[in-house]
Amino acid sequence: MRILVDMDGVIADFEGGFLKSWRAVHPENPFVPIEQRITFYLVEQYPADLKDLVQEIYLSPYFFRSLAPIEGCVEALSEIKAMGHEVFICSSPLTSNRYCVLEKYEWVESYFGKEWVNNIILCKDKTIVKGDVLIDDRPNITGLYLPSWEHIIYDQPYNRGEMGKKRLDWSNWKSVLFSLDV
Ligand SMILES: [Mg+2]
Repeated sequence: MRILVDMDGVIADFEGGFLKSWRAVHPENPFVPIEQRITFYLVEQYPADLKDLVQEIYLSPYFFRSLAPIEGCVEALSEIKAMGHEVFICSSPLTSNRYCVLEKYEWVESYFGKEWVNNIILCKDKTIVKGDVLIDDRPNITGLYLPSWEHIIYDQPYNRGEMGKKRLDWSNWKSVLFSLDV
């Protein structure tokens, strides 16, 4: 199988990285704990007058580079690869952050190793990419084509309204992806 794996919210902890910076830089302002997140875009869950400050956090240099890996992702992707599957990291960069693309490459090299850098696909429209499965935390993915892949949701509090698709996290991926006992 060819398995496409999204970055933010799947292997890179965007939400955790945001909260950490937000609370450090603006301790006087309210924050939304991850368990209470219900919209895909976090800025939509903050008051309108804080929107610019919220965006400033993830538009900053080093934001994407400093995200922590989501627990279990490095082991899971290495194991899937070792099982003989093709694994590509397929991410849609935040084009409004001019550092994002480079930092994503640096991030993958740093946590996964140099050989994984060749398996990065950055594109805004994932329906153009061919694969059997796309693991992604975005509830609904559309584009120019009907996707060739099955979208499996990476479980996050903000995508639980999306029903009717398989969902997994790095603690149960074997049973969801391959019907193997974990
Ligand atoms: Mg994502």
